[in-house]
Amino acid sequence: MLRFTDEQIAFQEVPGEVSLAYTIAGCQLGCKGCHSGYSWHSEQGTALTDSYLQQRLQTYKGLISCVLFLGGEWQPQTLLQLLTRARSTGLNTCLYTGLDDVGPALKQQLTYLKTGRWLAEHGGLNSPHTNQVFTDLRTGQCLNHLFIQP
Ligand code: SF4
Repeated sequence: MLRFTDEQIAFQEVPGEVSLAYTIAGCQLGCKGCHSGYSWHSEQGTALTDSYLQQRLQTYKGLISCVLFLGGEWQPQTLLQLLTRARSTGLNTCLYTGLDDVGPALKQQLTYLKTGRWLAEHGGLNSPHTNQVFTDLRTGQCLNHLFIQP
């Protein structure tokens, strides 16, 4: 079972979408300078069950366009079930992972994928030197340019 430490509406993490965003507890990548180090311990927070997500999607029906998971790829089958739930209601989906890739089954249920761990010297998606990549999986297009302030 996956658990989350934060549930919020996010406007910037996925360009052009209003996202219901979950910070999933239990990331083990240990990036130096991680902005959400408080979420590393996997036993904290609230259980993100299929029925919980279903209720939240009903609450936010018509108000959101996307469901964003900040982590969770370390339990691929559980994440897959949650992504499938979101997609079944017509919503787009996004995963932020610190890995460089995830498996094809997850990608099949994802609209967007952000890959790459946090490296302070390269910066995040708003840096032109970032190691991270934000991809629209429908087209394969890298959307990093949408995060750069003119
Ligand atoms: S992948 Fe993200 S959440 Fe995990 S340690 Fe790195 S910055 Fe933190």
